[in-house]
Amino acid sequence: MSAISEYIWFDGKIIHQDEVNLSLLTHSLHYAGSAWEGERSYNGVIFKLMEHTTRLLESAKAMHLEVAYSADEIAKATKEVIIKNNLSNSYIRPIIWRSSESMMVYNKNLTTHIAIIAFESNAILRNDIRLCVSPWRKPSVNVLPPQSKCSAAYAMLTISKKIAHDERFDDALILDQYEQIAECTTTNIFFIKDDVIFTPIADRFLNGITRQTVIEIARNIGKKVYEVRLTLDEIANYQSCFLTGTSAEIQGVTSINFQGKKVNFTISDLILTLQDEYAKIVGKIN
Ligand code: PMP
Repeated sequence: MSAISEYIWFDGKIIHQDEVNLSLLTHSLHYAGSAWEGERSYNGVIFKLMEHTTRLLESAKAMHLEVAYSADEIAKATKEVIIKNNLSNSYIRPIIWRSSESMMVYNKNLTTHIAIIAFESNAILRNDIRLCVSPWRKPSVNVLPPQSKCSAAYAMLTISKKIAHDERFDDALILDQYEQIAECTTTNIFFIKDDVIFTPIADRFLNGITRQTVIEIARNIGKKVYEVRLTLDEIANYQSCFLTGTSAEIQGVTSINFQGKKVNFTISDLILTLQDEYAKIVGKIN
């Protein structure tokens, strides 16, 4: 991913990135609790902008961040950032955070800021993803709200990804507190057996917008999709596996490694079909 765009929407105004001045006392830097989104534009159009913007505000609400802008205002600002920076295919990161009025873990004088940054980006189509299993588990639903894209949730995901990279894997599969398969660090996971799709029930992890889109695409092309509980012991029953996310789009998985074992997967035609259909839906190809 490249450097951020020249112009940023910051608390209601478009400013140059050089004008950004953030304090080292920024509360969210010390105590986490920021909320953010990851969006993509294709040929200048942001895919599912309103769904992302609504989720951004829900994530902020879960973190008790009071935002001064409505979903419509934020969506309009997001489009402005794309236009001002002349971006066609881009990755967009709106972020909401607590400011620097106090070093206390909470203080009523703390204010909330919002910014939208973006940069030119194209997803790289990959069908060679090798996964390991993180030693860390998803926080239980009464530790962190699973549908909130809050920075606190990403501390464990960051170290899981680092562990995966240190061991020469592409990413880490994360299990939930009950040792059931949840998701990867920034993607949801699917398995395929005999052209039937299975994916974990998204009540203990993020129900990704790409996940929902792919389920819809699959059902529209006549494929069965089941949302189920899955454990590592069962994955050898599946022939194929893929990941979904706004940034990654749809990526085929070739192996999952755990407890000294390796389960291999093939990249089935169904994965290729879903990748093609997704490219059409987001506006990448006609
Ligand atoms: N899980 C996590 C933890 C993520 O960060 C993401 C990326 N937002 C996803 C799943 C996929 O979500 P989406 O398809 O909405 O990008």
